[in-house]
Amino acid sequence: MATFPGGLLLVLSAPSGAGKTTLARALVAQTEGARFSVSTTTRALRGREKEGEDYFFTEEGAFMEKAGAGFFIEWAKVHGNCYGSPRSEVTHARAQSSLVVFDIDTQGGRRLREKEADCVLVFVMPPSFEELERRLRSRHTDDARSIARRLEAARAEIGQGLEFYDYIIVNDEVSKALERLKSILIAEGCRRSRLAQAEKLPSMGND
Ligand code: 5GP
Repeated sequence: MATFPGGLLLVLSAPSGAGKTTLARALVAQTEGARFSVSTTTRALRGREKEGEDYFFTEEGAFMEKAGAGFFIEWAKVHGNCYGSPRSEVTHARAQSSLVVFDIDTQGGRRLREKEADCVLVFVMPPSFEELERRLRSRHTDDARSIARRLEAARAEIGQGLEFYDYIIVNDEVSKALERLKSILIAEGCRRSRLAQAEKLPSMGND
C-alpha cells in the first residue's frame, strides 16, 4: 500500500469545467489505499450522480445541524448551496498514513490550510478561458443562467488559485495532468518537514 507518513491531505480546486473531478477520481483509483472525500451538499442531485458516491445530498436544516456539531473540517457556500467535507476523512488519512483527495473550492482550500497546515493545495487550470466555456456548454447539465454564473465564478476561482495555491496544473491533456499530479505526490512524500514530523527520517545511528 502507498504510504504517506502522517497522511497526505490533497486539495484539488479548479473552476468548474477544468476537469478536476476526472483527475481526482483517476488519482484515487490509481493510488493504493487512497480515498476520495465525499462531501455533503444541499444542492440537488444532477445527471448521473449517485448518493454517497458523488455527494451526500441533504436539506439545509440537516446540513447546518451537522456543521454545528463539528462534523465538517470545512464547509462553504458555493453558487448558493452549502458544501462540507467530513472531518472523519482527515482522521482516517492521519491514522492510516494514506492519501485523501478533497475536490473542493478555494474557500475550502483556504480553510483546510488554516486547520491542517500540511495539506497540499493544487489548482487545476483549463488551457484557456475559451476552452473552459466550451467544456461547460458541452456538459448539458446546466442551463444558460447557471453557465453564466459558473463562468463568472470561474474567474474569481482562478484569481484565488493563482494567489495562494501551492501548485498549478494546466489540464491540457488528462494523462499529462495526471502525471504532474502524481509527481507532486512523490515530491510531497519526500518533504523533510513531513518525514520529520512523522518521525520517519532515517536514523544516522548517532542518536
Ligand atoms: P458542483 O456543484 O459543481 O459539484 O460543485 C461546485 C463547487 O463546490 C466545486 O468547485 C466543488 O469543488 C466545490 N465543493 C464540493 N464539495 C465541497 C466541499 O465539501 N467544500 C467546499 N468548500 N467546496 C466543495
